[in-house]
Amino acid sequence: MKHARVACFGAIHEATLADGKLKLSDGRLVDEKEVTWLPPVEPGTIFALGLNYADHASEISFKAPEEPLVFLKGPNTLVGHDGETRRPRDVEMMHYECELAVVIGKKARNVRREDAYDYVSGYTVANDYAIRNYLENYYRPNLAVKNRDTLTPIGPWFVDKDDISDPMNLKLYTYVNGELKQEGCTKDMVFDIPFLIEYLSSFMTLNENDIILTGTPKGTVNVVEGDEVVVEIEGIGALKNTIVGDEVFVR
Ligand code: MG
Repeated sequence: MKHARVACFGAIHEATLADGKLKLSDGRLVDEKEVTWLPPVEPGTIFALGLNYADHASEISFKAPEEPLVFLKGPNTLVGHDGETRRPRDVEMMHYECELAVVIGKKARNVRREDAYDYVSGYTVANDYAIRNYLENYYRPNLAVKNRDTLTPIGPWFVDKDDISDPMNLKLYTYVNGELKQEGCTKDMVFDIPFLIEYLSSFMTLNENDIILTGTPKGTVNVVEGDEVVVEIEGIGALKNTIVGDEVFVR
């Protein structure tokens, strides 16, 4: 089952797909155009993997890491499907990152890899934008690269774990203005989902609705104001976002 969170009629609703429309939790059927899409889950801690596809690591002149390279993203960075992301005027390089987002379903501590999927509730799609200018001289994505407002579109759908037979074999695509720019497969992750859950839960507690952004494959290119960026993962969904400039935010 696919679930969304949307705002319409002055309230926030859970929604599912029914006959090409959105069915709200109160039973009303609405057109997709009538709603504002919200992140499909209200997240706890948001983890993000750096360089978790070897081809992307080589693309930006790094070696694939020997241990997961993980950073955190704040909830201020999130924006729903069909939202807008700000590209600051003074940056030279900003790129999208199509990523499988794994949603944790229950408290997890010291989980063994063979049990890891018991702690997953489902999946969604994220676009982990990077403002490349601020990257330091080794792979350390500081706050100015990854934690600006609106840098993490996520959604549209939360898809139940049981609906995805093999999350480690899903095709990923990014389209900029309709043109395919990035293509990969989750089977090429350096550290797979069970490894990441075992690793993170070995030194900290994971909680329901924590989210792990699992990294991006090769094919990240610069995007500019006005570009429409769609990141898509097979079986999970297509997440659309538009790049806007500083003037939209007035300041
Ligand atoms: Mg990323």
